[in-house]
Amino acid sequence: MPDQRLKLAVQSKGRLSEGGMELLSKAGVRFAYGRDQLHRRAENLPLDLLLVRDDDIPSFVAGGACDYGIVGENVLYEMQARSPRYADLEVALPLGFSRCNLKLASPRDGTINSVEDLAGKSIATSYPGLTRRYLEARGIDAEIVEMRGSVEVAPRMRIADAICDLVSSGATLEANGLAAFQTVLESEAVMVRRKSARQPVVETVADKLIERMEGVIASAQTKYILLNAPRDRLNEIKALIPGSDAPTVAQIADRADVVAVHAVCRERVFWETLERLRAAGARAILVLPIEKMMA
Ligand code: ATP
Ligand code: ZN
Repeated sequence: MPDQRLKLAVQSKGRLSEGGMELLSKAGVRFAYGRDQLHRRAENLPLDLLLVRDDDIPSFVAGGACDYGIVGENVLYEMQARSPRYADLEVALPLGFSRCNLKLASPRDGTINSVEDLAGKSIATSYPGLTRRYLEARGIDAEIVEMRGSVEVAPRMRIADAICDLVSSGATLEANGLAAFQTVLESEAVMVRRKSARQPVVETVADKLIERMEGVIASAQTKYILLNAPRDRLNEIKALIPGSDAPTVAQIADRADVVAVHAVCRERVFWETLERLRAAGARAILVLPIEKMMA
């Protein structure tokens, strides 16, 4: 009989592991303490983690060693661009963390400032598959120089004319005298799975986990807002509450001129919003985090 526990591949150490473990924890998954470096067994769900390098996660899922994995879109799509072996993988859920961009960049004071300028030039990258596919789609013939790390030093070391690399703040580019001129891919962490050969029993567990993860992600972006509003300015105040469809309006004891407004805001609530609400006459404004959500 096949194993009935959901096997999930997660990066063992790095930028995806912390976000991944935090998400699992907020989704209510508890793990038994153990000394095993490779496996962690959940105590309260039929779920086992496999802790591996992020670059190996698409292989583990495509090959069937794991059912799902948490990986960056950059790694997933790079593997798919390199080999048909990964064609059966799909994104089950975008997770909203580890956001970064794969960008083309060149020396700040040089002659390469657009994709067209790359014709006949060389580009250093750890993403040869995505870079080649991007250039080919635009009819640009350039040489790809594959590097495993420190791609940003390539132009200075005269290894390549330009680079295609992951960027989050842009500080590394700037420190190396480079400027980005084109985004090739916008990436975030995702839950990946096979399209085919999934096991029904395991999928039941996966559906439950994904529903909980959706709730965690939605609640992180959602706030609960409470305020008192003068009755005669209620419509104006309701219109100022961001991303809420149906606020609750309640009577306040012994006050005919003021009502209490409660609303779920599906957008970030900025200080500017609170200031506008107060200027419209709202008082006692409270913004609370929402811990869990289920529709
Ligand atoms: P491993 O040893 O597992 O191969 P790594 O060095 O490839 O680790 P990290 O640097 O931890 O991995 O990056 C993992 C993923 O995090 C990247 O593939 C990308 O999806 C995302 N990432 C990369 N750079 C950033 C960044 N600056 N900010 C946020 N997320 C990033
Ligand atoms: Zn890696």
